[in-house]
Amino acid sequence: MTNVAIHPIVDSGYRATDASFAGGTLICNCASNPVKVRVKGDIAHNHACGCTKCWKPKGAVFSVVAVAPTDNIEVLENGNKLAVVDASALIQRHACRDCGVHMYGPVEREHAFQGLSFVHPERFQGKGWSAPGFAAFVSSIIENGYDPGKMSAVRSRLREVGLEPYDCLSPGLMDFIATWTAKKAGVLAA
Ligand SMILES: [Zn+2]
Ligand SMILES: [Zn+2]
Repeated sequence: MTNVAIHPIVDSGYRATDASFAGGTLICNCASNPVKVRVKGDIAHNHACGCTKCWKPKGAVFSVVAVAPTDNIEVLENGNKLAVVDASALIQRHACRDCGVHMYGPVEREHAFQGLSFVHPERFQGKGWSAPGFAAFVSSIIENGYDPGKMSAVRSRLREVGLEPYDCLSPGLMDFIATWTAKKAGVLAA
């Protein structure tokens, strides 16, 4: 199964090496005047994502994406190169106009994820950030052209590397969203 590529971070067996990781600086792919974004504190819910919207490095089948509180995010350098990919999307993905890397994507509208920003931890200049823990939107890789006949091999490979495959988000995150929705509707006590 090792010949089933997922993402360079996963394929190379990345392990978090620093339990006290306290954040770092994300950098885009530009050789000159790169965009730099500071993230205070560690990321959460790091996972592989098969959706068609997340940024991924060339050749990768999945993205690796996590969240951090938007309050902990600060654009340090060359923020004038950032543009929102799709202003109508829930996640306001801020991408570098020159190299295309998504630097951070805040959720601003009323939603269970409001106040969080999506980031790609592989863009951290340093290591130590927490490793991906599951795989989301696995079936969606087909929408990007992946051979539907190879999906069982993909899911086997994901399990082999400890990333339980889900076709939506993980049960924990799905429950979190549903709880938020139920409280908003008054079905559950807030
Ligand atoms: Zn760039
Ligand atoms: Zn995604």
